Amino acid sequence: MDQAELQRSGAMTELPSMDQLWMPFTANRQFKAAPRLLVSAQGMYYRSHDGRQILDGTSGLWCVNAGHGRPEISAAIAHQAQEMDYAPPFQMGHPVQFEAANLLAEIAPADLKKVFFTNSGSESVDSALKIALAYHRARGDGTRTLFIGRERGYHGVGFGGISVGGMVANRKTFRGSLLPNVDHLPHTYAPNHQAFSRGVPEWGGHLADELERIVALHDASNIAAVIVEPVAGSTGVLVPPKGYLERLRAICDKYGILLIFDEVITGYGRLGTPFAAQYFKVTPDIITTAKAVNNAAVPLGAVFVRNGIYDTVVNGSPDGTVEFFHGYTYSGHPLAMAAAVAAQKIYKRDQLLTRVQDDGIAHYWQEALHALRDVRHVKDLRNIGLIGAIELESRPAGVGKRAFEAFVGCYARGLLVRYTGDTLALSPPLIIERGQIDQIMSTLRDVLRTID
Ligand code: PLP
Repeated sequence: MDQAELQRSGAMTELPSMDQLWMPFTANRQFKAAPRLLVSAQGMYYRSHDGRQILDGTSGLWCVNAGHGRPEISAAIAHQAQEMDYAPPFQMGHPVQFEAANLLAEIAPADLKKVFFTNSGSESVDSALKIALAYHRARGDGTRTLFIGRERGYHGVGFGGISVGGMVANRKTFRGSLLPNVDHLPHTYAPNHQAFSRGVPEWGGHLADELERIVALHDASNIAAVIVEPVAGSTGVLVPPKGYLERLRAICDKYGILLIFDEVITGYGRLGTPFAAQYFKVTPDIITTAKAVNNAAVPLGAVFVRNGIYDTVVNGSPDGTVEFFHGYTYSGHPLAMAAAVAAQKIYKRDQLLTRVQDDGIAHYWQEALHALRDVRHVKDLRNIGLIGAIELESRPAGVGKRAFEAFVGCYARGLLVRYTGDTLALSPPLIIERGQIDQIMSTLRDVLRTID
């Protein structure tokens, strides 16, 4: 069917005027000249404005872990909207927010059983940094104000997040206004030593020892927290080398520094455990999450905090005073909470948080991905859990050009992938079947064959 036939058949959605909207993280002029609009979604698939079925290779944006269009979630949101649309979160509460926190605490690792709600990953990161400062201050350790992030880290777009983050493009425009008290660990990307690793690379655990050098430089008494993504997603899927996270944990323990895992993409079953902390058997002090916490149906973030941190800040303050001067109008929004309760019940009932390990999906995924090794342009393949990355050789004309073309080519063939720099990143919903994994890989193979 051509475009005119599609429109006549009703399968094609008429495009709105696009002049007014300033789109985020998008090449606006390029997009508006050749738009890609999604109009509906069910299970593993989107439908595009031109009436095509698009296999979701990215869970939206690493967030629709239970697949699209879950009726229990939309029913819970609709019911909550009828029952009570909004309740103020300061000095007031509503039952669903406590129910959601209780369900989340059930899957949280170790003693990270206190939950603070935000509305996004960026807000979760800023909240976690503030919690770290509040904790040290409450302990009488107020000189601990320095944060250590990592090169190539992504922690959202708040000033806190871009300061501890290490994505150059996200920082350079705002350089003069970043948080002043920040240092960075080196990244762990080392293609010469790690290319085509299956899962965790053997090489690179020693890079964590750089933390010792940074601690010596600033003195431990000034350092509040280290923040890292267990698996860095937005800078191209960088899987932590063997032993790396364990060493970070040991060094933080030695110097009384808090360890924050930003699990905005790894949280809620992506690796086949509820959180990456459980996958790597490394327990941080704070975990930041968002996205799949409620299957992304309504904006929501959740920060998990060790009981001892909560006790120090909350129980250490005089009764009747506000202990932590932080929160959002929409913290614990009733609709987001209803969606979280419904999503968490689905995850539990369908055992989705462990499915990719239990059903052997992660192994099948790994083998299917690494079968692309000899395909044209492929420079490296990286995987862990249900995450995959295909790094392409750069064109002399510029980083990312080929990956962008591959992304557009995949979309034209009915597959949604993501590209960042020269890397195509994959993170499909956890309900994926083996046949759909094959479909993803064969589409990628076809597309990579056809682009220059
Ligand atoms: N942290 C990590 C690790 C992320 O991957 C993201 C988003 O992809 C964020 C923070 C920011 O989340 P949001 O876009 O919801 O603010």
